[in-house]
Amino acid sequence: MSKKWPISLEEFMELSLDIMCKIDKTGKFTSISKASKKIWGYNPDELEQKLFLDFVSPEDLEATTDIYQKILKGDNLTSFQNHYRHKKGHLIPMVWSVKYDKQQEIIYCVAKETIPPKDYEKEKILKTSQAIINGTQNLIWSIDRNYILLACNEAMKKRFLRDLKFDLKVGQNMLEIPILTEEYVNKWKKLYDQCLKGEKINIEISPSGNKVLKPVWIQANLTPMYENNEIVGLVCHSSDITDKKTIESELKKNSELVESILEHIPMGVAVNEISSGKQLLMNSEFSKAYGWPESDLNDVKTFFEKVYPDPTYRKEIRQIVMADMESEDMSRMQWNEISITTKKGDTKFIDAKNIPLIDLDLMISTVLDVTEKVKNKKGVERALAEKKNILESISDAFYALDEQFRFTYVNESALKTMGKTQKNLIGKYLFSEFPELEKSVFKDYLLEVQQTGKPAQFEFYYQYFDLWFDENIYPSQDGFSVYYKDITDRKIISQALEEAYEKENEILDSISDAFLAVDEENNFTYLNKKAENLLNIKKEHALGQNIWDIFDHAIEDNVKKNLADAKKNKTSIVFDYFNEPLKTWFNIRSYPSKNGLSIYFRDITFEKHQQKELEKLNADLQDYTKKLETSNKELEQFAYIASHDLQEPLRMVSSFMAMLKNKYEVELDEKAHSYIDFAVDGAHRMRQIIIDLLEFSRAGNHQESIEKLNLNVEIDEVLSLLHSSINNKNVNLEIAELPDVYYSKTAIRQLFRNLIGNSIKYSNKDNNPIIEVNWTENKSEFQFEITDNGIGIDEIYHEKIFQIFQRLHSKSEYEGTGLGLAICKKIVERYRGNIWVESQLGKGSSFFFTLPKNIDYA
Ligand code: ADP
Repeated sequence: MSKKWPISLEEFMELSLDIMCKIDKTGKFTSISKASKKIWGYNPDELEQKLFLDFVSPEDLEATTDIYQKILKGDNLTSFQNHYRHKKGHLIPMVWSVKYDKQQEIIYCVAKETIPPKDYEKEKILKTSQAIINGTQNLIWSIDRNYILLACNEAMKKRFLRDLKFDLKVGQNMLEIPILTEEYVNKWKKLYDQCLKGEKINIEISPSGNKVLKPVWIQANLTPMYENNEIVGLVCHSSDITDKKTIESELKKNSELVESILEHIPMGVAVNEISSGKQLLMNSEFSKAYGWPESDLNDVKTFFEKVYPDPTYRKEIRQIVMADMESEDMSRMQWNEISITTKKGDTKFIDAKNIPLIDLDLMISTVLDVTEKVKNKKGVERALAEKKNILESISDAFYALDEQFRFTYVNESALKTMGKTQKNLIGKYLFSEFPELEKSVFKDYLLEVQQTGKPAQFEFYYQYFDLWFDENIYPSQDGFSVYYKDITDRKIISQALEEAYEKENEILDSISDAFLAVDEENNFTYLNKKAENLLNIKKEHALGQNIWDIFDHAIEDNVKKNLADAKKNKTSIVFDYFNEPLKTWFNIRSYPSKNGLSIYFRDITFEKHQQKELEKLNADLQDYTKKLETSNKELEQFAYIASHDLQEPLRMVSSFMAMLKNKYEVELDEKAHSYIDFAVDGAHRMRQIIIDLLEFSRAGNHQESIEKLNLNVEIDEVLSLLHSSINNKNVNLEIAELPDVYYSKTAIRQLFRNLIGNSIKYSNKDNNPIIEVNWTENKSEFQFEITDNGIGIDEIYHEKIFQIFQRLHSKSEYEGTGLGLAICKKIVERYRGNIWVESQLGKGSSFFFTLPKNIDYA
């Protein structure tokens, strides 16, 4: 065979435009034709001894390995397709024919490039667009001429499944879907047919009456498909435009509304673009208000010249408007009651306003024809001026309020009291200008007038101003008219009067006496409460009545005469009077007054009664005192006589006892001697008691003469009498410098001797006696104090020891008769002084006595 071929197989392989190669059983290229350079970009030597699988596209690796295994098992193969990687990196599609030589274990292969790379790109595009088609929410489908579904996207499938519960499949006749209504199907058939005739359709489909599908607006695009210039079907693309439709219709409604409003509102409105000045809109009212046709007004430049023909006025207006506009202050962008000229040359008045919408580059101008209002206002102003003249001439303060309590008018007089000006009150809310009225009765009255429609009149204390007003609120057509008068002065006077009257009444009522006043004719002019009660008569009945009509029973008494005399002589008079019917004693005092008499009277029944009692008591007392004095004197007499006369037999007893003792000394036994001693001792004590009693009866006797005494000298005398016991007991004396006094010498010496003597006698055996004499004085009396550190006295005996014969000890303990302190007390009390003791048992005693500086023996 080889001879038939002028070239060797290798040379032949080199000639081939296709790749020819041998692969051993390990999968390596053993030889390869030069076409490898052209197709794969590799020279044969770059590939030889390399594994062929290394050059296969990864995507095809699995299939290629599979085939390779099969080949090794003996399968021959034609037309196996896979991709090889070009040296530059891109993939080359290949188609292979292979034969395996089992003996040599070599694979012979021929391969050529298949589809051009261009188609491969196309596939990629196709895939991408497929993804897009399936990714969109819009519905895309295609049908053939017989309405059979050729293809549809996922959204379409899903839509049918979800809304119609219908599994849409390729091959479905789109006009024979059982669930769709006839109307719906017909609509689409019409569209399909139209398109299949070659027409490209773009249509918005309104929601159908199909009850199954939710009502949606659809935008549908139908495009015919051609093959060889013949229509073979169509592609349809539909999207849900319900939202868009809704917004559109809202917008339409809105703009229709705006337009109709603009057309119908009784106000001119024009809208211009700020940047260009271009007019976008102007309603008919705008031109009507200015009195110029629309065409004349839409040129901003000539607008001013037309509307304000007078150059001076125009300049003025332009300046104002410009300045206001430049201020960018919205409140300044309105101009009221501007006079303009119409095309016909008439004068009109307008209110104009500009509303810049900077963000939108728009300027809205509004205009209102206020000619009528201005004319009326002038009329009203004239009328008002007239009214004002009238109102101003009213001297009362006056203001008017509207229904909302805003000031519409305030006259001069009112302004004066309010301290405000007309300008800052008109239009203002009453209670924000005068907040203090809000919580006052004024507001209550005002609301009452509002509710009832009836006028109110009241006096009102305006605390804030400290003024009283007489207020009159009348309901008016537009609100309220308020008249008020400052009545503070009047109020002050009447209040002062009231107060004074009240005070006077209070005084008259409060005086403890009953009081009444009568005039010249003896008629009652006043009666206080007490008088009402005492006379058992009511003021209302008494006032104006004649006093003798009421008290006719008194006419006969001395009262009438007494009072008549007092009135005649214009003198005051005091007398007591017993009113028989009332069974009451009155003490009456009458004073002449300007108009008659003022009569004070007091119920003295009780006092009269008491006085009688007192008088009786006094008489009794005097009687008793007399008796006492007599008995005292008798007692004194007795004591004197007794002590004096008793001494004599006592002396006899003592001396005969002494004689008995001397004469019978030997004869008498010891017992008889001790009896005699007892008798002698008894007689002695008896004698001492008699002496003391005598002293007591004489003590403080006022027959004693009063003389100036130097107490220091008197005390020395007393101490010298006591000197032996002072020495015996080693008494420590601390005697203050004493004053001069005017008393009886005997009494003073008796006082000090008894008290100092007791202090020595009742001294404590355990310590040295200390005796102090001190004194103090006040305006009216001296107070003396004799203090010792002796045995002291239990508190229960502090009173008792001053009584006659009261002793706390037996004669064997301490000598004494129990008369010393009684004598002291008698002397001190004789001088109208006091005597007392402060003492604690075992600690010592302080005896105090006081003596008035001016003694009086009353
Ligand atoms: P007498 O003659 O007993 O002293 P007085 O009238 O002088 O009588 O005193 C009455 C009593 O008061 C005394 O018995 C004594 O107990 C008591 N007494 C008086 N002075 C003192 C004193 N300085 N200290 C203690 N006791 C006193």
